[in-house]
Amino acid sequence: MADPAECTIKVMCRFRPLNNSEVVRGDKYIPKFQGEENVVIGGKPYMFDRVFQSNTTQEQVYNACAQKIVKDVLEGYNGTIFAYGQTSSGKTHTMEVSYFEIYLDKIRDLLDVSKTNLSVHEDKNRVPYVKGCTERFVCSPDEVMDTIDEGKSNRHVAVTNMNEHSSRSHSIFLINVKQENTQTEQKLSGKLYLVDLAGSEKVSKTGAEGAVLDEAKNINKSLSSLGNVISALAEGSGYIPYRDSKMTRILQDSLGGNCRTTIVICCSPSSYNEAETKSTLMFGQRAK
Ligand code: ADP
Ligand code: MG
Repeated sequence: MADPAECTIKVMCRFRPLNNSEVVRGDKYIPKFQGEENVVIGGKPYMFDRVFQSNTTQEQVYNACAQKIVKDVLEGYNGTIFAYGQTSSGKTHTMEVSYFEIYLDKIRDLLDVSKTNLSVHEDKNRVPYVKGCTERFVCSPDEVMDTIDEGKSNRHVAVTNMNEHSSRSHSIFLINVKQENTQTEQKLSGKLYLVDLAGSEKVSKTGAEGAVLDEAKNINKSLSSLGNVISALAEGSGYIPYRDSKMTRILQDSLGGNCRTTIVICCSPSSYNEAETKSTLMFGQRAK
């Protein structure tokens, strides 16, 4: 294991509040919080770098999860922030962004919907990238937000019987930061990937069939390859299976090494979702 002070993978865990339909159904609020790093579900403790209770604000989550990575990216490091969890657990709420998406292992450009099956190539330094993906040059926070809204409206959504229209694709927002000091001519570049993963729920719960079942299997497969890469990195293993999925391949130069990685594990606090919440927490523990 790497020295914890050196370890660049951080795993945070966030519980949303009970929603209206859970309250109406009479669900219980199950997490018990102990300090800032522990949550207990069904008598079992789960430990993370930080645990956020349901009343945590967006700003508090940003300060703890993103601020340091954003600062490091401005200093030339690469970083990735993931949101993992079942549908409706608060992933999109936590990330608020999207750009291109991976659906059934096909990469769609969310800023140009005519590009539906982009491929992964390597540049001369063997760094993977998505060939032909639309790039926008943005100069202000407003331009970033407009770009995000445009991409969001193009996300792939299929209806499942989980009451909500759930996002069944991984969406990846890449911010490339290039800076040049005009006096010293020193150049700095860093990349930040923001990854809003597809829902991690098991197939049986959504009662999926046919095409939707294929979709669910594909999601499970890509999430488990991500889990394998992250746990190999956390264990300091010599072999990291980046090539097992498109997502891990694209993120290769922003995961591991001296890159900054944060995973936000998003959970429902409801007794109805206890089994999913436990499996979500276990995914997070594998990365530690
Ligand atoms: P996911 O992306 O995991 O499917 P969403 O982020 O869309 O889930 O969240 C589902 C619903 O719950 C949304 O209406 C969202 O606004 C609400 N929600 C999620 N997290 C929180 C939170 N921490 N506080 C208040 N509302 C939340
Ligand atoms: Mg979502």
